[in-house]
Amino acid sequence: MPAPGPRPPADARRPHRFQVNPARFPASRPLKSASPQSILQEVFGYDHFRGPQQAIVEHVIGGGDALVLMPTGGGKSLCYQIPAIARQRLGQGITVVVSPLIALMHDQVGALHEAGVEAAFLNSTLDSDEAWRVEQRLSRGDITLLYAAPERVTTPRFLGLLDKLHERGQLALFAIDEAHCVSQWGHDFRPEYRALTVLHERFASVPRIALTATADALTRADIVERLQLQDAGQFVSSFDRPNIRYTIVEKKDASLQLLRFIEREHTGDAGVVYCQSRKRVEEVAQMLANEGLNALPYHAGLDAAVRQQHQDRFLREEGIVMVATIAFGMGIDKPDVRFVCHLDMPKNIEGYYQETGRAGRDGEPANAWMTYGLQDVVNQRRMIDESPAGEEFKQVMRGKLDALLGLAEATDCRRVRLLKYFGEDSQPCMNCDNCLKPPAVWDGTDAARKLLSTIYRVQQRSGIGFGTGHIMDIVRGKKTEKVAQHGHDTLSTFGIGAEYSEAQLRGVLRQLIAIGAVAVDSEAFNTLALTDASRAVLKGEVTVQLRESVSQPAGRSRTRTGSGSAGSKPSAAAALDADGQRRFDALKSWRAEVAREHNLPAYVIFHDATLAAIADIAPQSLDDLRGVSGIGEKKLQAYGEEVLRVASAV
Ligand code: ADP
Ligand code: ZN
Repeated sequence: MPAPGPRPPADARRPHRFQVNPARFPASRPLKSASPQSILQEVFGYDHFRGPQQAIVEHVIGGGDALVLMPTGGGKSLCYQIPAIARQRLGQGITVVVSPLIALMHDQVGALHEAGVEAAFLNSTLDSDEAWRVEQRLSRGDITLLYAAPERVTTPRFLGLLDKLHERGQLALFAIDEAHCVSQWGHDFRPEYRALTVLHERFASVPRIALTATADALTRADIVERLQLQDAGQFVSSFDRPNIRYTIVEKKDASLQLLRFIEREHTGDAGVVYCQSRKRVEEVAQMLANEGLNALPYHAGLDAAVRQQHQDRFLREEGIVMVATIAFGMGIDKPDVRFVCHLDMPKNIEGYYQETGRAGRDGEPANAWMTYGLQDVVNQRRMIDESPAGEEFKQVMRGKLDALLGLAEATDCRRVRLLKYFGEDSQPCMNCDNCLKPPAVWDGTDAARKLLSTIYRVQQRSGIGFGTGHIMDIVRGKKTEKVAQHGHDTLSTFGIGAEYSEAQLRGVLRQLIAIGAVAVDSEAFNTLALTDASRAVLKGEVTVQLRESVSQPAGRSRTRTGSGSAGSKPSAAAALDADGQRRFDALKSWRAEVAREHNLPAYVIFHDATLAAIADIAPQSLDDLRGVSGIGEKKLQAYGEEVLRVASAV
């Protein structure tokens, strides 16, 4: 780390890295171990670290900076929470967690309280009295983790507070969550994040850990540069989320397709449905509600109080379907979201992956399902073309869109392509639509050439371009009024593709637009034009392989089988016998009550998997509970007796 600054007292880094410094603790306070493993067990009730968690935690406790790239649901929180607890126990003071997720801070802090960790948040939802009380706790050192919004962290007042802590050697760590917000290449750019360099400049000796689930090479490099993390350890996890099944279907009647999908696979499950526009969100939420589903809308046009209320209901109630724009979801850590749908195509793979990643954080089977059609391609291309951004930026965005189009058009394993995008090689997954039911492929090269020559001839004859419908009519030899009016039935290409269905030609056009061999002029009524890339297709140098179009509006039907089947109930609970199931249900009602009393989502009290494990072992004593994953010391103390009572009453 370059810039000089007061280093904390030769810090308990080495050689006694994980021993508590007794001098800093009053004699009355029991000494607690600062070793990562014992914190993992004692506080969180987990036996093992996942993936690179342990290496990250040790690196940060030792005072190193870190950049952590982990998929959504990978377990990023523990990567800074355990170092925060350890460094607090080592007498090094508080950890400041910078996060843009103001609406979630209350629950995040609540979850830490449940685990017995002193935490607080500072953001615009607190009034000045409340904020003042938090600041008092902060200066007394009564807090282990403080969550704060970036615009708060960089105020002179807050920096002044940090100065005082720092002078006393009581500033242990900065955790910068959702670090991709610092990059304009990420999909959640927040200008306030740029100001965070002040942390490094002002407190050079305080370690920083930056975390994100967005990790294409460009964004990653940008994060490193913007946050000056050149010397940080980089920890990149596998981005695979094996429990998520990816399916992309051709768009016919998107609303109906969605409804059928939910009915077929996800009755009663919690899920998120992403739409492009606020208007569409409202329509789809209404449609689902009319069909008897528990659906709520969420978009930036709704009143903030309504938004918060819908979010709270989604987190606290079971089986809510949230229909939302991308304004919804960052940081949502509800573990049992069983499906994420996209009714419109997102802008790029990062966005798609982050959004779909909100499904199945608990590791149980979940679905990522998208409908995609010609209009999506046209819209996304147009949005880039029409944006006021510079040409360089547009080029990058086009490249990112192309990668997503490639994924949508793919006839091979979707996961292999997704992971490849994040720089990982893998084998066909057997848990995506293409693996489970390899699509029939047909050679669309001939149809492509016929379409392209028609676009060319029409332009030559009339001096203007025409839209997709008209071009397809000519190729198929349909003598519509418009065709006759322009004399296009006399073109040499009129009817040369009569053997193709409209759906087939639409598929070919979509792919031609996707690969840039046809341009759509959005300023001239979405008319089609040839491009430089058209030539290679016309000459037969490029072949066009297409998925066979499906005719059923509901998409391919699929049988649900065995363990790989998405949408089934969590396997831990499903495996219970009748008594176990009764205990599980009783525990769930008990949990719902506690959650309501504490004004927290139920999963913050215990995960389903924890309740299922309790129901399964039918515990007789606190000792029986001790080994259950998800029960730490604090929860054992607070809830152990109650859990025993509820579990044995059935
Ligand atoms: P992320 O922030 O990376 O999306 P979270 O930190 O929310 O993921 O973790 C996802 C889920 O995995 C949480 O429910 C968390 O309790 C659980 N989890 C994380 N680490 C472990 C572990 N080592 N053992 C068991 N469960 C874990
Ligand atoms: Zn696959």
